[in-house]
Amino acid sequence: MHALDTEQSVAVIGAGAMGAGIAQVAASAGHPVMIYDTAAGAAQAGIASIAKGLERQVARGKMDSAQRDAILARLSPVSDLQDLTPARLVIEAIVENLAVKQQVLAQVEAICGVDCILASNTSSISITSIAAGLTRPQNLAGLHFFNPAPVMKLVEVVAGLDTDPAIADCLLATARGWGKQAVLAKSTPGFIVNRLARPFYAEGLRLLEEGAADSATLDALMRDAGGFPMGPFELMDLIGHDVNYAVTRSVFDAYYGDDRFLPSLTQQALVEGGRLGRKSGRGFYDYR
Ligand code: NAD
Repeated sequence: MHALDTEQSVAVIGAGAMGAGIAQVAASAGHPVMIYDTAAGAAQAGIASIAKGLERQVARGKMDSAQRDAILARLSPVSDLQDLTPARLVIEAIVENLAVKQQVLAQVEAICGVDCILASNTSSISITSIAAGLTRPQNLAGLHFFNPAPVMKLVEVVAGLDTDPAIADCLLATARGWGKQAVLAKSTPGFIVNRLARPFYAEGLRLLEEGAADSATLDALMRDAGGFPMGPFELMDLIGHDVNYAVTRSVFDAYYGDDRFLPSLTQQALVEGGRLGRKSGRGFYDYR
């Protein structure tokens, strides 16, 4: 199967950090993009954050204002799932919770055409188990972007047990057409990148809990001596602790409680206290 044509419409469900970024990527590639979110005003806020980001690019001379206007004109907030009927590809980027993802995608499946491709941006939930709640499990694959989606090149296309290989091929071709470096991954816990990255967060958190150094020092060391673009604590603040903690828990559970993936009580406390990182104004660092 070929890449989607740019006239074909894309829908993004969830207008948070990832949903807004993915919508920007698809609209920049030329697709009409619908954005749906259950939180009042969230779809509009997502578009406003895209507009702000594009404005910065115009100011830096990386894009002209006509290009910015064309991208923004392709984005439309919708207030009802029923409005997603014309979508050829629906990408969900909602809360990292299996039951909620299954429920939303089952609704979408009932609304959209039989050949509509369903994609999940899940960081760690098994694509096979999300698909198990669907009538057409073959139409679902993972389409896993990294944060921030417009900047990060990598996209994992994740095939579950039932994923039609033609759908995975179409997503690989589409993501490449969107300027991404797309790789095919099997639906193993955490897929590729989130599995490999677990020790980066986990050992950082253990060092902090053991009092080796504070988070700012550990981040600076990993940046300056380790050569990483970001240290583990600033990266977790960017990702969102609710999301990062949910991913750790899901990988830990999937490996039957393997100690290597043990979730951190420090991170659990941040989530309980609503200190989710940048998006809530406070995490390891204060952004207020
Ligand atoms: P977020 O909290 O920034 O945004 C989630 C959005 O989904 C919110 O606006 C919320 O109102 C909306 N939402 C929740 N339930 C909904 C529902 N039932 N229907 C419609 N909208 C709903 O979260 P995020 O960081 O954008 O993460 C979204 C997904 O992307 C998660 O599955 C996460 O694991 C994955 N992901 C996150 C990152 C990251 O770095 N944050 C990276 C890759 C993948």
